Amino acid sequence: MVVFHTEAGLQAYVKGKRILGKTVGFSPTMGALHEGHMSLIEKSRATCDISVCSIFVNPTQFNESSDLDKYPRTVEKDLKMLEAAGCDAVILPSVKAVYPKGTRPTERFDLGFLTQPMEGAHRPGHFDGVVQVVKRLLEMVLPTHLFMGQKDFQQFSIIARLLQLINSEVKIVCCPIVREADGLAMSSRNVRLSAQDRKNALVLSSTLKQIKAQYPNGDLSALITAGMERMNAIEGVDVEYLEAAHQDTLRPVKRWADSSAIVLCTAARVGAVRLIDNVLIP
Ligand code: AMP
Repeated sequence: MVVFHTEAGLQAYVKGKRILGKTVGFSPTMGALHEGHMSLIEKSRATCDISVCSIFVNPTQFNESSDLDKYPRTVEKDLKMLEAAGCDAVILPSVKAVYPKGTRPTERFDLGFLTQPMEGAHRPGHFDGVVQVVKRLLEMVLPTHLFMGQKDFQQFSIIARLLQLINSEVKIVCCPIVREADGLAMSSRNVRLSAQDRKNALVLSSTLKQIKAQYPNGDLSALITAGMERMNAIEGVDVEYLEAAHQDTLRPVKRWADSSAIVLCTAARVGAVRLIDNVLIP
């Protein structure tokens, strides 16, 4: 595996592959890698000739500076995992390398309603930072394919729309959520959970699963209200949202019959850690 720190080095490598007609899969990450990230590399390896990963904790997508400061960083371990997974190249750029002219966004995109609900409503400015960094990383890496996780479903929808808006030829691939054996969605932030919070965190996935199990019976809005009560009843768990939305538009869905493709999303603070999860229905 080749490790790059600069755009020029990586681009020379990628262009050398693309000129030979090879496809290049790219999986952007913020490091503290786990099996969820590895599933992106696996999918990339199965789909493309060359697989590239980036590890960059993007300061512009953190709406809370304490979250940025506490974000876990395990670069040595990450590189070993990527090597073992058969990743071909990784870029570890500095903030200066990603944003040579400063971190203030210079472009605006009309992503319509997609950026407004759920994470958009609860993390002001978050998606501006996500769009800014993904656009910039695509310029740096020049991939043919982009691998992103369903774990961040709203982020995936927004980046898919961004690619349309900029007429990008990059093909985006959504990779299913990888979970711990007990159902908790894998996340870099899980290492920050205390033993009790780790147990409490199961209420996110179990509530989503319970509601999905009712489909297409029962009243969806009532199920969601009951689900929120169930989550909030646990001491140390504070729900930010539990919402059903259309998978393609992210517009709210009130009844099962209103959409044939629903995504049920939640975000909650468990102790000091903010977690998200979702399920696709049916
Ligand atoms: P992050 O490092 O958290 O920014 O995540 C990098 C990429 O990995 C994003 O596309 C995430 O959606 C994806 N990802 C994170 N956790 C998981 C998971 N448990 N299963 C599948 N993909 C994931």
